[in-house]
Amino acid sequence: MPRHPDRQLERMAQPDAARLLAASRTAILVAGSVEQHGGHLPLGTDAFAAMSIAERVAERLDTAAVTLGPVGVAHYHLGWPGTLTLRPDTMRSVLLDICESLGHAGVRRILVVNWHEGNSATLRVAADEAQRRYGLRIVVAETHIITHRSHPEEMEFTHAGSMETSAVLAYEAGLVHLDRATEASDRAAGDHAHGLFRRPDVYPVMADFHDVAPTGWYGRPELADAHRAEEIAEEVADHVVARAIEIWDALDAGHGSHAPAHRPAPASVSAVDGAGR
Ligand SMILES: [Zn+2]
Repeated sequence: MPRHPDRQLERMAQPDAARLLAASRTAILVAGSVEQHGGHLPLGTDAFAAMSIAERVAERLDTAAVTLGPVGVAHYHLGWPGTLTLRPDTMRSVLLDICESLGHAGVRRILVVNWHEGNSATLRVAADEAQRRYGLRIVVAETHIITHRSHPEEMEFTHAGSMETSAVLAYEAGLVHLDRATEASDRAAGDHAHGLFRRPDVYPVMADFHDVAPTGWYGRPELADAHRAEEIAEEVADHVVARAIEIWDALDAGHGSHAPAHRPAPASVSAVDGAGR
């Protein structure tokens, strides 16, 4: 299965979207970023990578992919003009408003497909609030991590290297221009510095990406291959769907009739929300 742009909610006619959301009670939320990725990849790399996976996931779950918008939380890339960022509170508000809208469509399960580390903390806070306000069950898929872990050598966990080049190839190959690459930063130094921010136990908080890569990016984009990119995007979509179903089944079994997916919809989502504001 290649891409499925027809799964993007805004490309659907309303009756079709309403039917899919009501029947599946599930929506795929898409979270990316608009930030510099050197000269060889577009600013929207993370937004396109997330949408590419989200469309495939939506196809498998027979529902719609709903974008939060292309922009994420990426203030640490602002040193490179053209980068855009949301304040975390803005992204939180957008997620809450979209979840409320989806609640009106009968959605009870949200699967967030994210491709950007800078969004993760905000998505978690926003998802927690949306669950409590709207009676949803939200699962978050960190698709950049899944992609890297499934093929650690081939899909390098750098910035604008082989993994992200591959992700753009799987979305729209014409957006990759290896001949326009700006100077790469040292790969070993970038890996080491990035690793500090990715430690799970004791870690610094990213303020400026110059701390990882003084030229903005590092890695080996030339290792990416269009055919492999497509295969891997498909694998990642399969993985996300399998894990989400596993989680939903386990939580529903553990909570019996109290699981949100099986709980009758609140009489009025806006009334529930109104009580919380
Ligand atoms: Zn990226």
